[in-house]
Amino acid sequence: MGVIHELPVELSNQIAAGEVIERPASVVKELVENSIDAKATQVLITVQQSGMKSIEVNDNGKGIAADDVEVAFLPHTTSKISNGRDLFNVKTLGFRGEALASIASISKLTVLTSTDGKSAVKAKFSGSELVKKETFARSIGTTMLVEDIFFNTPARLKYVKSLHTELNRIVDIVDRLAMGHPEISFRLIHEGKDLVWTSGNNNLQQTIAGIYGRTIASHMFQFQNSDPDYEIQGFFSKPDTTRSNRSYISLILNGRYIKNFQLTNAVVRGYGSKLMVARYPIAVIDIKMDPSLVDINVHPTKQEVRLSNEGHIGDLISDGIKKRLSQQNLIPDAVKNL
Ligand code: ADP
Ligand code: MG
Repeated sequence: MGVIHELPVELSNQIAAGEVIERPASVVKELVENSIDAKATQVLITVQQSGMKSIEVNDNGKGIAADDVEVAFLPHTTSKISNGRDLFNVKTLGFRGEALASIASISKLTVLTSTDGKSAVKAKFSGSELVKKETFARSIGTTMLVEDIFFNTPARLKYVKSLHTELNRIVDIVDRLAMGHPEISFRLIHEGKDLVWTSGNNNLQQTIAGIYGRTIASHMFQFQNSDPDYEIQGFFSKPDTTRSNRSYISLILNGRYIKNFQLTNAVVRGYGSKLMVARYPIAVIDIKMDPSLVDINVHPTKQEVRLSNEGHIGDLISDGIKKRLSQQNLIPDAVKNL
């Protein structure tokens, strides 16, 4: 008799979770990305014990239909893409259909969702298993409550760093998601304390102010450099306002926070010799381009992105910054707006 057999769904979900859900911040990222894809205008994230005890993401997006609630938690189920062509033209942050199944497999998850503001569904899962489903009431939108993350995967618990580090990672991911979506109001509360708040008034500089503070944001320069294929704009700090690492350079591509070494270096290059050695600016660079020219299907967490024309985009960024810095009038932009 053969020895090869299919794994139980719960186990294969847990294995998949290992790739996408490394820590509490990964849960926050996946849930908030779902809220953004659901066209929410307000996203409230409430966490306890750096997310180890609970993570709640509440949005006013379009909600999940009652019939779809259980389907949404199955592996590889998504409403975002349907065919191979869609895969090379992804306009949403999610598309793999893995996150909810993965998160449910390693936590106790409760979803409360409504598509019409009249009837709502509340469903509870424990380690992938649906334990309760009932009708409820709430306004249009979705609340996902994730408790006791990694309760059934003790090995993974060991990789979680100190609560302090985990909280910093959550703040960091909410910051970047917020900077990618100035049109959405984000609020992060940890044990009753407000850590992040952005107004959602679609002003990137004010969003930056909500994250790095008004002083920094109001002393940044604005630039734009576009061509028919790429629309690039952003804010960057004065050469004397720097940090000791590159992590204050945020790249947003079509609303998605990405990591890309070449483009990060392009920002630094734009300053030429104006930066001190081993000092890096604060910058938020917003890149808009045809989604079919981006291959985001590189890594499960989708942060590392391959671009077909990296060198050219890098040049647009560094030239744009260089040009703005060379202008005589070195008065930071739009101070009046803050
Ligand atoms: P993906 O985001 O890759 O599609 P997920 O597992 O994260 O996969 O979510 C599965 C599906 O559940 C989504 O495609 C979407 O239809 C639905 N969904 C998840 N979260 C929300 C939400 N906050 N609001 C509305 N629909 C949601
Ligand atoms: Mg998703």
